[in-house]
Amino acid sequence: MTFLSKFSNRNKDGEQSNDPWREKYLNLLDQQEQLEQTHKEDQNLLCSVIVRLAIVASGFDPQLEPNLQRIRHSIKAGLNSAELKRELDSISEALTNYKAVQLTESPTIPPPKQSVQQGDPALLFAFLQQRYPLERQQLALLDLQNTPESWHDEQELFSSINKMLANEPISVSGNSTLVSAIATAPSSKKITQYFLDFLERMDIPETLRDHAALLKVQLKIDETDSINDSLLEDIVAFLLELGSENKPKQQEIDLFLAQITDQLAELGKAVTGSSNAAIRLSLNRNKLDDSVSEQMNELQIYSLNATQLEPLKDIISSQIKQITQEIQLHRKQEIIEREQAQHALTELCLRLNEMEHETTDLKCRLQTASRQASIDPLTGLPNRYAYNERVKTDMASWLRYHTPLCLLIWDIDHFKNINDQYGHQVGDQVLAFIANMLVVNCRETDFVARFGGEEFTMLLPHTNKQSAFKLAHKLRCRIEQSQINLEDMAISVTISGGITQFLKGDLHETAFARADAALYRAKTLGRNQCCIS
Ligand code: GH3
Ligand code: MG
Ligand code: MG
Repeated sequence: MTFLSKFSNRNKDGEQSNDPWREKYLNLLDQQEQLEQTHKEDQNLLCSVIVRLAIVASGFDPQLEPNLQRIRHSIKAGLNSAELKRELDSISEALTNYKAVQLTESPTIPPPKQSVQQGDPALLFAFLQQRYPLERQQLALLDLQNTPESWHDEQELFSSINKMLANEPISVSGNSTLVSAIATAPSSKKITQYFLDFLERMDIPETLRDHAALLKVQLKIDETDSINDSLLEDIVAFLLELGSENKPKQQEIDLFLAQITDQLAELGKAVTGSSNAAIRLSLNRNKLDDSVSEQMNELQIYSLNATQLEPLKDIISSQIKQITQEIQLHRKQEIIEREQAQHALTELCLRLNEMEHETTDLKCRLQTASRQASIDPLTGLPNRYAYNERVKTDMASWLRYHTPLCLLIWDIDHFKNINDQYGHQVGDQVLAFIANMLVVNCRETDFVARFGGEEFTMLLPHTNKQSAFKLAHKLRCRIEQSQINLEDMAISVTISGGITQFLKGDLHETAFARADAALYRAKTLGRNQCCIS
């Protein structure tokens, strides 16, 4: 009851006054009370809806989490409508931000690429769409282009393309009009550049290195604005070969799995066989029991009805003979069955042992294969694939524990000159030397990878950008001051570095782009230095 209604004009028995204004006033008071009640109920309902929404949405996105928790707590503590409005505004702002982040990650919009040097997949797709004009080929390519989340870098993209188009006819062969149309297309220069970039960055397997080197030479020689037909054919053939490189490993695993399946089937048969033998043994024993007790019954009936001893004796002795024979027969059968079961069991154990060995062997081979797949054979460092995996883990821990995380990108200065002056083999030795210098001069918890060509990446967990800069400076100076001793000479190289610390709201791509920009600055400022961004 409101304060005013206490002064209402009702008498003791609840009868109403005759004054019309009072009547009106009291009615208004009743209405007001009712309105207040409804409002309170609405507010309670709204609170409980918000609390439920907050519970449902919790754990969904780390950035929303603090807002959701705060709202739950303040609603529990009870809040007025002004406070409620403020909380609602804050959740709707958080949700808008969340939506914006989601949009930038939307599969229909390709994620920002890691580096400006990385090439443009749209060009590749444009090229492939001309090479594979059939409708189903076009659809498959469109599908791949529209799902950039299914390939994270060129290597995965090419392996997907190879998988899709491995057995597809290349329409260009024999269609010279189309070839020249493609070859004279204005983007062919860019395509040449794209493939050159790709070849530089890929970990080319040993068996394809010569082919890759030949392609590089041909692509570089082709100074004109067009690519010739046979070079195009050669590029596609190379990509297909690259894709089929991993097939033998897969075939080996498939073969082994097939063997294991056969052995499991045999094992199943052996187990069923030995349990069947046990069933047969117990059935035989039951039969013997039945037959013995039947004959004993017969004997009992004979002896009860017998009037003379001699015929009874004959009957008893012949029945006992029969029983003895049956028992002997049963014994023989039992021995045979037991021997067979024993034999099957020994076989079973042997097979199990064999399988155990083969499984251990397979595990080792798979471990080696997966190690090889993530290691760069030239430097022994984790490769770009391993880096992409590791950065996910390091970023997850950075997001969760809010400990600083830094990213460094290194690039050898004027490395092309080293190749040109001393040859590729010396270039390779220099790469291995730099890789070793980077690894031995940082902490065990730091991660060093060969990102591609003459570029290296480093992840420094629990390190802020000041410390990362100090480490980078130390590494750069040590490399500058070292000599790489070759058979009859010693050479020196320098490196440039770009450093960044992961910032709140960073994606890997945004942090990488910052470090890359810092590296670019270090190069333009004269090389042999590190910059922070
Ligand atoms: P900058 O200072 O601007 O980085 O100049 P740079 O010459 O180092 O850069 P550029 O990108 O022009 O050349 C990189 C060279 O690295 C070209 C490429 O042939 C070479 N390269 C990439 N991978 C390997 C490799 O595995 N072995 C050898 N020997 N050379 C490689
Ligand atoms: Mg480079
Ligand atoms: Mg370089």
